[in-house]
Amino acid sequence: MNELDTHARDAAVRALADARRILALTGAGISAESGIPTFREAQTGLWARFSPEDLATPEAFACDPERVWGWYRWRRTLIARGGVNAGHEALAALERHRDVRIATQNVDGLHAAAGSSDIAELHGNIWRERCSACAANTTTAVAPADEDAPLPACSRCGAPTRPDIVWFGEMLPADALARAEQGLNEADCVLVVGTSNRVYPAAALVETAIAGPATVIEVNPEATPVSTAVDVALRASASHALPALVAALDAAPARR
Ligand code: NAD
Ligand code: ZN
Repeated sequence: MNELDTHARDAAVRALADARRILALTGAGISAESGIPTFREAQTGLWARFSPEDLATPEAFACDPERVWGWYRWRRTLIARGGVNAGHEALAALERHRDVRIATQNVDGLHAAAGSSDIAELHGNIWRERCSACAANTTTAVAPADEDAPLPACSRCGAPTRPDIVWFGEMLPADALARAEQGLNEADCVLVVGTSNRVYPAAALVETAIAGPATVIEVNPEATPVSTAVDVALRASASHALPALVAALDAAPARR
């Protein structure tokens, strides 16, 4: 889709202009245009025969840490190569106009790289590592995106370290979830960008937003389970829709 539906775009701009606080709930789709595949897309190359559900689990790591690290190192390479796109940049630029918080399911760190200042990472961060055995001993060194380096080991107990990512079947970090919920309570406009709204409990945040008083705007080129329930559905890519919304706010008379 090249042109935003003008009726939906105008409604979205009005809601953003009227908002004091905005919460953006983002998922893999906002990073898709950085060349980082979403989980709904088929994996490519070496990894085509594995599904993320077979790699992003504690069981997969216990069984074959080399394979799991191979996949995450490949993803790190894609992220480092892709970098931020116009969608991440537009959310950072939105802070020129409004108080913006982000709660993301993404682990790629690209919102921070784009300059957003308030980010709750619901599923962790692929650039951090922690021990798989003595989990209390958390290391947060940013490792190089080296696909061939030896497996990282914990300096305290020698067990393999793992990416500091929430895998299927694991709990979300309580602090990130609490910040997302607070952001939701305080927001009068919620942007839902690039998420299929199928992975819980993150999808429950969107359901709470829809049930609450905030105006909910979805940005997604495809329909999702919540598309008919949101206030405004922009059927467009993040890198197209978000800069267009920010440009419209830039052009609007200042109002605080
Ligand atoms: P998902 O893969 O389930 O859904 C992606 C959604 O993005 C789809 O609805 C799709 O229509 C939409 N989309 C595709 N291209 C888009 C674009 N250009 N602009 C806007 N939307 C676009 O992703 P999810 O809902 O985030 O859930 C999947 C899980 O996978 C999460 O747990 C997440 O942690 C993980 N994941 C993270 C990354 C990352 O960090 N970049 C990448 C893949 C998966
Ligand atoms: Zn250890």
